[in-house]
Amino acid sequence: MPAPVWTIGDITVHRIDETELPPETGPWLLPGATPDVVAAAPWLRPDFARPDHGLRLASHSFAVRAGGLRILVDTGIGNGKDRANPAWNHLNTDYLTRLEAAGFPPGSIDLVVLTHLHTDHVGWNTRYHEGAWVPTFPRARYVVARDEWAYWSAAELDAARRQLFRDSVHPVYDHGLLDPVDVPATGTEIVPGVTLVPTPGHTPGQVAVRLSDAGKSALITGDCVHHPVQLGRPDLSSCVDIDPAQAVATRRDLLASLAGTGTLVLGSHFPPPTAGYLRPDGTGYRLDPAPAE
Ligand SMILES: [Zn+2]
Repeated sequence: MPAPVWTIGDITVHRIDETELPPETGPWLLPGATPDVVAAAPWLRPDFARPDHGLRLASHSFAVRAGGLRILVDTGIGNGKDRANPAWNHLNTDYLTRLEAAGFPPGSIDLVVLTHLHTDHVGWNTRYHEGAWVPTFPRARYVVARDEWAYWSAAELDAARRQLFRDSVHPVYDHGLLDPVDVPATGTEIVPGVTLVPTPGHTPGQVAVRLSDAGKSALITGDCVHHPVQLGRPDLSSCVDIDPAQAVATRRDLLASLAGTGTLVLGSHFPPPTAGYLRPDGTGYRLDPAPAE
C-alpha cells in the first residue's frame, strides 16, 4: 500500500509507518486518560480509541518534499536496538523499504529534523552496518534545536539513555552530521516553508514543525500532543514530560493558535487517519479528520 500523502501547496507530506504501539502504551504514557475520560469524547472512536476506551498510538515519521529537498521529520524507534521497553527492543520492521517506496531512498535525504532526542524519535538515525552503528542518511544534515542538544549534553544520563545516545545520536555527531540550530520564540525557518516552532515542556528544546506554502499550512506536532484525547483535555500530561506544567502551557497556547485556522494538524503518534483540523469543542478541541489522499 502506498504511503499516505497530504499536500500543502507545493509541499507534500508522506506518513512512513514504523509500527503500532501496543495497547499497554496508553495507560503508561497518559495515566490521566482513564476509560471514563476517553468515553467522554466519543469522536475518538473508532480511529483513535479502542472499543474498551484504550488509546491507539503509532510510531511513524513524516517524509516531506519542500523547496526541492527531501526532509525526514523524526526517525522512529529503529531496528535492532537494545531497549528497556520490550515493545521497542530489537524491533524489526520494513520502515526503510516503506521510506524508499515513498520516493525517499536513504541516500537521497537532505535533511533530518529531530523534534526532540527521545528513543522513539531518533532510532533510524543509524543502522547497524559491519559491526557498527552508522548514519542511515549519509548525505543528510540532522537538525536539532540547540537547547535540546545542550540539555542532553549536560544531563546526567541513566544506562538506558547512555545506550540510546551511543547507538543513535553520537554516531551522527561523530560523522559531523549533527547540526544544532537556534530556535527563537518566534521559530526559525530552516528551508523556505519549513519552520521549527519551540514547544518546550515534554523536553526543554522540543520543536514542532510548521509547513507553509501558497497560503496553506500544516503542523507536525512532535510530542507536545501525544494523542488526540489531549485535544479535548489539554491538561493531560504524559508520564515522560520533563516539565509537565510547561508542557500543559505550551499545549494550550499551541492548540489555541491552531483552532479554526485551517492548519492541518499532523500527529507524531496519532494512528490513521493521523491528520485533521482542530475546532473548539466544549472546554477543549476536537479533530475533524483529514484522511490522506
Ligand atoms: Zn514520542
